[in-house]
Amino acid sequence: MKDSTCIFCKIANGEIPSSTIYEDEDFRVFLDLGPAAKGHALIVPKEHYASIYELEDTLCSRVFLLAKKLALRMREVLHCDGINIMQNNGPVAGQTVFHFHLHLIPRYEGDSAGIRWNPGNVTPEELAELVEILRVE
Ligand code: AMP
Ligand code: ZN
Repeated sequence: MKDSTCIFCKIANGEIPSSTIYEDEDFRVFLDLGPAAKGHALIVPKEHYASIYELEDTLCSRVFLLAKKLALRMREVLHCDGINIMQNNGPVAGQTVFHFHLHLIPRYEGDSAGIRWNPGNVTPEELAELVEILRVE
């Protein structure tokens, strides 16, 4: 399914041009226009899935294979010192485009990408309670 109002549907399906670095039947990978660092790319399925919750299982497993392929390429040709692979779901998590995408962000010593969070604290009781409710088969 495509969403006629969704910019990533249009880009992924070639209706809007993009700096594409990979394409197959199911995915397009293109360079982010607001890069956190040089080479920042987005893996985007051609079908519309708003977020991880909706993403079809086969595509979900393929996304990380693709991420590895591109990460190896980035390391080889950009000589980046590291790579962040991240994916935002929901506005509170920083999602601004509501079509699933995986960020590949090459990192360089001293860059200004600033991808960090503030470590918090957790008690043994809280850990136990979380294990109780989060554990899946
Ligand atoms: P997120 O905040 O996780 O939803 O990420 C959305 C990303 O899409 C941001 O990094 C934007 O810079 C990027 N972006 C938005 N519009 C475009 C576009 N037309 N072409 C390329 N990247 C885009
Ligand atoms: Zn879409």
